[in-house]
Amino acid sequence: MCENGGEMEKTLFQKIADKEIPAAIVYEDDLCVAFRDVAPVAPVHILLIPRKPLRDIAAAGPEDAALLGHLMLKVGEIARAEGLAEGGFRTVMNTGAEAGQTVPHLHVHIIGGRSLQWPPG
Ligand code: AMP
Repeated sequence: MCENGGEMEKTLFQKIADKEIPAAIVYEDDLCVAFRDVAPVAPVHILLIPRKPLRDIAAAGPEDAALLGHLMLKVGEIARAEGLAEGGFRTVMNTGAEAGQTVPHLHVHIIGGRSLQWPPG
């Protein structure tokens, strides 16, 4: 039960999507928003989120299939628009504490613009 009459507390990323917190938005539509990571690990570091406040990919269900497909297509579009598609780039979704997820709102990192190590630490 929520203490405020059923309204869930907004995540940081919902507040960005709702323009309550400023961010450098590079793309948005009715399903998703993409903005530049405030602490980039590469020349291009963008976070793509669904407007729907899914906690993470493990919280998604069959009803989210079209939304997740939409997000994946947007990854490619954004990467092309940022000039990453030719040289290559990385997409990351951290899920839960052991993966270091810090914001409990599903987000896809789109990272590129330099040579990237694999495997990560
Ligand atoms: P994760 O560790 O996968 O949960 O990633 C969260 C990401 O959100 C980190 O890369 C942070 O740098 C980024 N971040 C945190 N606050 C903001 C913000 N206000 N605007 C943009 N990016 C943020």
